[in-house]
Amino acid sequence: MWQAEVRIDLEAIRENVTRLRAGTSAELMAVVKGDGYGHGMLAAARAAIDAGADWLGVCTLGEALELRRAGLTTPVLAWLLAPGLPLHEAVAADVDLGVGSQGLLAEAVSAARHAGRPARLHLKIDTGLSRGGATGDDWPDLVEAAAKALSDGIVDIVGVWSHFVFADAPGHATIDRQLAAYRDGLAVAERLGVRPRYRHLANSAATLTRPDTHFDLVRPGIAVYGLSPVPGERFGLRPAMTAQARVMLTKRVPAGQGVSYGHTYHTERESTLAVVPLGYADGVPRHASNTAPVLLAGRRRRIAGRVCMDQIVLDCADDPVAAGDVAILFGDGTRGEPTADDWAEAVGTINYEIVTRFGSPRVPRVYSGTRP
Ligand SMILES: *Cc1c(COP(=O)(O)O)cnc(C)c1O
Repeated sequence: MWQAEVRIDLEAIRENVTRLRAGTSAELMAVVKGDGYGHGMLAAARAAIDAGADWLGVCTLGEALELRRAGLTTPVLAWLLAPGLPLHEAVAADVDLGVGSQGLLAEAVSAARHAGRPARLHLKIDTGLSRGGATGDDWPDLVEAAAKALSDGIVDIVGVWSHFVFADAPGHATIDRQLAAYRDGLAVAERLGVRPRYRHLANSAATLTRPDTHFDLVRPGIAVYGLSPVPGERFGLRPAMTAQARVMLTKRVPAGQGVSYGHTYHTERESTLAVVPLGYADGVPRHASNTAPVLLAGRRRRIAGRVCMDQIVLDCADDPVAAGDVAILFGDGTRGEPTADDWAEAVGTINYEIVTRFGSPRVPRVYSGTRP
């Protein structure tokens, strides 16, 4: 018997990857950073590979090494690397490195010497996001330095890549501008003798809506987990995560009764309250107080009052509800429950953040759809 659980349908992840692959002739990198967007990095990675993912994408060196320690041999790219990390461990483990600065390039070169083998690099251009990567001004110098290391046999330049600002708003002017800047960056690289095997730019949104950005490799994350990057569109994806808990206790209270910390909610009439054992320590945003919907006893109900660290309360009026009943916070929607999109809208965030939050070690993650 369980009290609260986050259920992950691995079959949904496989279906989503299959669908994404069918929409492109490029290779596919399943992005499994952030503990697989809260779905469990290793399980998500294995399901994606089962469905034909060619690459795995992560942010940190730690994430990449964990994939290798688990025995996964699929190509892995890690792209969020602060100075001073033991990059030789990445080189030794055959982890590709996203490099967008001269400083990191120099560290990758040292790491390759230390490891006694070439470092595999993906050079990153900043085409407008103003986050990682070299700006257009710094790009030629970065490519030149990398080309020198390439001719010395110290590095392998596997990829040239960038990342979109606003691909989740199809038609947004930044998309074409970034695509043009990316092509310019590729042309600069080519002039300097760098012709990467993998040119890659597309996140989920671009993978689903802009085939002209696919190049050699697409990098979907959120779509792998069945959530849409574009508000209001589903793209035939199936959400893989369900967050649910059993009612711990019910009680009758009179009209006008204040509920939970601060009494920000009061019953309108005599009501049955249901206490559900999931709170902000488990990933429920405190901003969900009095706003986010939960399915219980056949109806969606807004959380009554503040979200606590460990529990929430639902006002069930006169509906029959008992301790042990299952309250579904969100799922794929097929049982009438809210989705992560509904939660995102209620809380004023994006579906990415909702599912990624539900990774607390306190709540067991239960997998279904495992291959027999
Ligand atoms: C997270 C991330 C992705 C995946 O983005 P989605 O919008 O989840 O598809 C792709 N590329 C980079 C560089 C990222 O950081």
